Amino acid sequence: MRMTLSDILAATGAVGDVGERGNPVIEAVRIDSRAVVPGSLFVCVPGARLDGHHFAAEAVEKGAAAVLADRPLAGLPEGTPVLLVRDTVAALGRLARAWRERVGARLVAVSGSAGKTTVKELTAAILGKVGPTAKNYKNFNNRIGLPLSMLEAGENDALWVMELGISAPGEMAPLASIAEPDVAVIHNVGPAHLQALGDVAGVAAEKTFLFRSLRPGGTALASMDYPELWDAARAAFPGVRGMSTKGQAAPYRAKYLGAISEGRGRFFLKLDDLELEVVTPLTGGHFAENILAAAAAARILGAGEPEIAAGLATAVMPEQRFFCRRQGCYTLIDDTYNANPLSMRRAIAAAAETAQARPLVLVLGEMREMGAHAEAEHGKLGEAAAASGANAVFYHGAHAEAVGEGLTRSGYAGRFAVVDTPDAFLGALAPMGFGGGVFLFKGSRSMRMEEYLAAFSQSI
Ligand code: ATP
Ligand code: MG
Repeated sequence: MRMTLSDILAATGAVGDVGERGNPVIEAVRIDSRAVVPGSLFVCVPGARLDGHHFAAEAVEKGAAAVLADRPLAGLPEGTPVLLVRDTVAALGRLARAWRERVGARLVAVSGSAGKTTVKELTAAILGKVGPTAKNYKNFNNRIGLPLSMLEAGENDALWVMELGISAPGEMAPLASIAEPDVAVIHNVGPAHLQALGDVAGVAAEKTFLFRSLRPGGTALASMDYPELWDAARAAFPGVRGMSTKGQAAPYRAKYLGAISEGRGRFFLKLDDLELEVVTPLTGGHFAENILAAAAAARILGAGEPEIAAGLATAVMPEQRFFCRRQGCYTLIDDTYNANPLSMRRAIAAAAETAQARPLVLVLGEMREMGAHAEAEHGKLGEAAAASGANAVFYHGAHAEAVGEGLTRSGYAGRFAVVDTPDAFLGALAPMGFGGGVFLFKGSRSMRMEEYLAAFSQSI
């Protein structure tokens, strides 16, 4: 971003003055004093553990040109401009909106229960072929991360792709009003964050608040593959356009055509009147909905066949998202970034498809934040694992019994072991072997299943 301090005062509605040093031009906004660069605006965000207001002096020492705070601050050098607002996070949102207005950017907002970052990266890869494009920094997708990402966009970035993440009721509306999308896309919905959102219909209803903040003339896109989502989407925005990977009559359609090599998949796309086949660094039928969402959104913002094909072919996928690689005679699938029931089920099915006749080994960690649904969802995980035809299932975390019961219920005849450390996993695996096998590693972020993958990779 690039705004004068007086513009920032006006945009945030803050009380204060630009100080005695003239009206500096601010080119960066920071909330972490360690990340402050000279001339930036330091926004004091009160957190659960630490309060940014306590770091304002340090930020100024490191060169912050001004501070945005919710209270007067002592201990700052004489003449430091302090902008006072009631709620600094809300002010950050207003500032991001003002910057968007200044740039005149068109914005794609991405939400869904699994794969937002993947869709964001794919969309940005396509739009990057159309013109200068900005996107969220990593996974910065909440009330703080979204505006910070928007403020990182440069003056010439006319196309913005932003993922929006929610975990509780009431979170989408304020987030969506910061983004005010031109194109809003929800590519799936599943039992994620159930602790707060209740059930899948609750998740869908909350997510479709995104459509209520569309700019006039904007386009809503939702997957028809998920009945709860499609119902909620039509209720929230009757003009919503459908996307289908299951052969339904929809303006936007996709189909997975299979892997052409480890980690490269072929997909068919139909985008209104445009039909094409694309190759991307993703394998697995579950990614058809991600690729479709990205291509449809980009098409609406002006991408043609060459941009869609080239963007998807050269997209660089974020790490730990179903990343397949060969090591010796093994295929390792690193899906350790995160897990919820939807992504777990789809990843297991895609791993089984990858394995075909080779041995399949599932190394799974607990799915967190399931609340009262935890037992039932882990039981279903056991059922999905059994249905995949896995030769062995290793499990780390709580609800192991429920997983075991799910396996038994489904007549599973393979091995099942609870392994609460990577060493225990290697120890249990050693006598079993499974040379030439496909190994899937996946679990919630805090289960750190990447450590299991690293241990295995070092052992072979
Ligand atoms: P977060 O909520 O943490 O921001 P996200 O929605 O951005 O997550 P990603 O980071 O792209 O999602 O992927 C999270 C996990 O979901 C990864 O393990 C990824 O492989 C898996 N995943 C991605 N797309 C899909 C999909 N369409 N269906 C099922 N699982 C998916
Ligand atoms: Mg994400």
